Amino acid sequence: MALKRNKSKFVNDRLAYLEDNHLYRKMRQVVVQGTTANVDGRNVIHLCSNDYLGLAHNPKILRKAANALKEVSQCSSRLIAGNNPQLSELESSLASHRKTEAALVFPTGYMANLGVVTALADKNSTILSDELNHASIIDACRLSGATIKVFRHNDVEHLEEIMRKAPGRRIVITEGIFSMDGDLSKLGEICKIAGEYEALTVLDDAHGDFVFGQDYSGVASYLKAPVDVHVSSLSKSLGCFGGYVAASASTIELLINISKQFIFTSALPSHLCVAASEAINLAKRGGLQEKLHANIAFLKERLEDEGFIIGNSSSQIMPIMIGSENTAMEFSTELLRAGVFAQAIRYPTVKRGSARLRLSVTAAHAKGQLGQAVEILQAVGKKKKIVS
Ligand code: PMP
Repeated sequence: MALKRNKSKFVNDRLAYLEDNHLYRKMRQVVVQGTTANVDGRNVIHLCSNDYLGLAHNPKILRKAANALKEVSQCSSRLIAGNNPQLSELESSLASHRKTEAALVFPTGYMANLGVVTALADKNSTILSDELNHASIIDACRLSGATIKVFRHNDVEHLEEIMRKAPGRRIVITEGIFSMDGDLSKLGEICKIAGEYEALTVLDDAHGDFVFGQDYSGVASYLKAPVDVHVSSLSKSLGCFGGYVAASASTIELLINISKQFIFTSALPSHLCVAASEAINLAKRGGLQEKLHANIAFLKERLEDEGFIIGNSSSQIMPIMIGSENTAMEFSTELLRAGVFAQAIRYPTVKRGSARLRLSVTAAHAKGQLGQAVEILQAVGKKKKIVS
């Protein structure tokens, strides 16, 4: 009995700590309807989706995925009995999209990061990681057993300084577009320094993939940066689900042989592979990206005109910087009541005291909808003294 009480005390104390510090998280009921959503029973403008190209509700993709669902799922890992032909088709289009020799699909982008970093780094390696890298990269670095050196966000001088002293094999890892700030990595300079020190480069391009670069092949192409290993998610611009690594054929061969997150888990179901392959075809045609970039320019200008501080955002991700966790939560809740769904982002997703609303605009938003959202943001922002 005493043991039981102790156990729940630990849980209750942790929950109380989160509540006291405005860090408690609660899930809302959300039914996404494209650029609008029903959130806890209220229909609102959806401004926090990662469906950047608006493909998640594309009828052609949904039809193809529904047809593929008629087949029995493989219920197995890839190396046992799960390697269906749709996976290989998807991987070959992902490899040609990223202009690499090969690609490998993982069940999620999170697992792709764990799988690739633990395969490429060990206790004799040093990983140099941007301080704003995603939680999956941080976990991946820790799991690999490598020495971890964190460089200040996008600070190439700091990177070089720690690179000079780094022992063993060196691996640099960064994001293309940073997920909570929406700014662009200094990938060209990072790859130059990596080249000088013979360091391997790993890029998590979850948010730049299919949005930037020649043929929309991502931030490495956009900045003409010779990245060695590309990681991305199928659940952002493609509007699907899953993750992948694109790299040399030998790197992919190594992942198939030693990556636990590939070996000891079930294969991505066929209907998701079919959906992702169709989404790639549609994304590669262009057009959607033109709409997205026009919407980015429009929303950025309108937000800045109203006095919102959106940091160094140069993409579809626009953080409205607040600072206090409590104010960010209150702002988000009042916005929802007024008709805009924009989630507050707090520690540990971002540093303490740097809470924000993370807005994301998509190709599917109509200009009128964005204008209406800015009016609501401005009215609530004034009330909460975020803008004057
Ligand atoms: N990397 C980055 C930069 C991300 O933002 C995310 C998702 N938020 C992931 C990886 C994980 O991708 P997934 O959702 O496919 O697991």
